[in-house]
Amino acid sequence: MNWLTNFVKPKLRELVGGKREVPENLWHKCTSCGQMIFHRDLVKNLHVCQHCGHHMRIAARARLKMLFDEGAYETIELPKAPADPLKFKDLKRYGDRVKEAQTKTGEEEALVVAHGTMSDETGGGTVVVAVLNFDFLGGSMGIAVGEGLLAAAGLSVEKSAPLIVVTGSGGARMQEGILSLMQMARSTIAVEQVKEAGLPYIVVMGDPTTGGVSASFAMLGDVALAEPGALIGFAGQRVIEQTIREKLPEGFQRAEYLEEHGMIDMVVPRHQLRERLIRITGLLTRPAASSDVVPPEPVDEADDSAEAVDAAPVIELEAEAVEVLPPEPDDTTDTAEVGDEGVPPRA
Ligand SMILES: [Zn+2]
Repeated sequence: MNWLTNFVKPKLRELVGGKREVPENLWHKCTSCGQMIFHRDLVKNLHVCQHCGHHMRIAARARLKMLFDEGAYETIELPKAPADPLKFKDLKRYGDRVKEAQTKTGEEEALVVAHGTMSDETGGGTVVVAVLNFDFLGGSMGIAVGEGLLAAAGLSVEKSAPLIVVTGSGGARMQEGILSLMQMARSTIAVEQVKEAGLPYIVVMGDPTTGGVSASFAMLGDVALAEPGALIGFAGQRVIEQTIREKLPEGFQRAEYLEEHGMIDMVVPRHQLRERLIRITGLLTRPAASSDVVPPEPVDEADDSAEAVDAAPVIELEAEAVEVLPPEPDDTTDTAEVGDEGVPPRA
């Protein structure tokens, strides 16, 4: 089968001069269980292995498509950053490496910033999503990524929308030396801007989230999510082992381990990510709705209002309160709201 589709079919097509198919890799090998997966199945399954559930790395655009309503989003142009500020060269020129990455990924830089709506029957609304693309020089953070995060924060404040950052990065971009390390501070400022505006800042840590990225904006989320099995940490496991001369525990620096030890809030499988993000942003942006309940102040004023207000609607409220309270003991906000409204008639 494999041989037929990969080799014979394209050859035949070439002979008859039919339209040439894109030479895509039709089969992928799962890096975890080694099973072969058909490309289309993999895309349909959001790049999660259907055999073992391994979450493979996923390109920034595919990630955005997966999160927004009907896969529709709009990207913004990111500010231009100085190219190769240190004129750095190792085996290759840094400038050439960037060009290669641009050709390979079709992206300008390692960060893509988009906005659009993310909603379902439970709620949701406009969000700004910034995604690091691991395929672009390991998703490393240089000046351009720092600028991009500031632009994303600015957009989030301008639109009064939550900012969601999805990471997938090896850390700071060493070819930009100290300038890349400075982006740790700049990205932190970006996060602060969003928080100062009272907007939610959520981080989804993909595989891997390490180095300077884990030591800055990735760990500052109001809610920190991670994908199953994602490698999250600052220094590499071997470096730590050699430094402390101790064997590290099983599963160290993996999302599940970090969740168990309180470093992150939850590990969310990719299929549930969109739904979970809608729920979290919904909960964090809801105060406006519940503020209706605030005006009726404690018991003192309740007496006055009970006299002043027509009796009939108040009784209705009480009737509603009695009905609503028992079945929803878990939902604390709802019971609080109903309870407050229920006070006047009783007093
Ligand atoms: Zn697998």
